[in-house]
Amino acid sequence: MSTGAVRLYNTMTQRVEPLEPAEPGHVRVYVCGLTTYDHAHAGHARTLVAFDVLVRFLRARNYRVTFVRNVTDVDDKILKRAAERGESPLALSERMSRVNADELRACGCLDPDLEPRVSESVPAIVRLIEQLVAREAAYVAETDKGRDVYFAVRAFPGYGKLSHRNVDDLVSGARVEPGDIKRDPLDFALWKASGDGGFGWDSPWGKGRPGWHIECSAMAAEALTPHFDVHGGGMDLIFPHHENEIAQSEAAWGEPFARLWMHSGFVKIDAEKMSKSLGNFVTIAQILERNDGEALRYFLLGAHYRVPIDFDLEKRPDGRVVFPGVDEAERRVDYLYATRETLAATAAGAKPAIEGDTPAAKTVRSAVDRVLAALDNDLNTSVALSILAELAPAANDVALQVARAKKDAKAVARGQALAAAALEAIDACCRPMGLLQTPAPVFFARTQARRLGLRGMDAADVESKVRDRAAARAAKDFAKADGLRAELTEMGIEIQDVSGGDRTTWRVLV
Ligand SMILES: [Zn+2]
Repeated sequence: MSTGAVRLYNTMTQRVEPLEPAEPGHVRVYVCGLTTYDHAHAGHARTLVAFDVLVRFLRARNYRVTFVRNVTDVDDKILKRAAERGESPLALSERMSRVNADELRACGCLDPDLEPRVSESVPAIVRLIEQLVAREAAYVAETDKGRDVYFAVRAFPGYGKLSHRNVDDLVSGARVEPGDIKRDPLDFALWKASGDGGFGWDSPWGKGRPGWHIECSAMAAEALTPHFDVHGGGMDLIFPHHENEIAQSEAAWGEPFARLWMHSGFVKIDAEKMSKSLGNFVTIAQILERNDGEALRYFLLGAHYRVPIDFDLEKRPDGRVVFPGVDEAERRVDYLYATRETLAATAAGAKPAIEGDTPAAKTVRSAVDRVLAALDNDLNTSVALSILAELAPAANDVALQVARAKKDAKAVARGQALAAAALEAIDACCRPMGLLQTPAPVFFARTQARRLGLRGMDAADVESKVRDRAAARAAKDFAKADGLRAELTEMGIEIQDVSGGDRTTWRVLV
């Protein structure tokens, strides 16, 4: 596999550009992570799944990737929530950071190579603020709690270059609040005084805590040096967060901050319809009660990462809320795992080989290159999934042909080799998107357990009905057997008679 074909949309230049890492072959990526005070929602999942695909795909394209994702464990929202709960802010954020990490892992996100936290980065943050003050890009202002430090936006001539905004237009929209101690309404806090009794760290300006934006400048530079390749986050971070990161970093170090800026689109929910039942967001935890994390990932990858996604919800007559788009994605993920199982059984250890020019052979031969080409093109996962959706049925056809060719040893051997090649192709197509990363029996066991639970059933109930049906069939009481099948169907159980009807398998539908 070659490198050099990857092209990504750069928010800074507003163009799709070739990825050209500063150090050839090594891509250094920084992504703004979660503020850990509550459950992560579908919008967070979308952003972090998109950047997980970036990392996995670059590795599939033979790049070395250093992936940094921070944890914002000091923030006003955390302080407020902790005060409401009577908990220490760092205890709350530590607890929620573990919950959030599990939520992201459930969506198939790899852990980052480095995961800096604000609470552990205060010395680096203080050093950076000192440097900005020394360069007169920042100034100290007295408050009743002590001394704050603000970034002087007018001192940085490039302000607005990422969000393509003009400083004067920004000023007309900003208001100076009465009693505001900032010199200019656009200036933002680097350090906030907390008073002697408040939460914070000692600093040259007294006790306080960092403002939000400064942390990412300091942590990215510590982890990756002040100049690195890709900076990512959700689209809502472009302004002011990322604009401010650029201003702080470039004012302090004088060299360009990130080379390429990537931003994922929003997840939209019909707020009016949903506000009464669920609020205007759905958490990953709520989705995981009903669906597999891999189904959520597949659903999110169905749209290109920059376009908005509509997250549909449907309220059932019994009051349950379901997610039809994720349900459909879960059926597709089921099908991919089942396809993989079928191929492994068909290939029976054969050496992969693609002979001839049958439609199936052509599909198997071209699939991986087509998927990688789609991902080369600014991570076009929706096209990649559509190629996978051609490959899987073609692969199932190969398995069917092998089963039918029983007596033709040559055809069986050719088919088994093609099945082995199809299996390899499916894996190579799925790997960069983080799909099919679970052993199939584990996936089937966990989805079955969850689906039975949702339907209030246990496996023993189903087994006993399946056995009764088999007994009825053996006794040639077909009316009873059909009645039991109808009952199982009604329960959401799909049964399949295998090995000429001697054995029945069953599965719970999504
Ligand atoms: Zn950030």
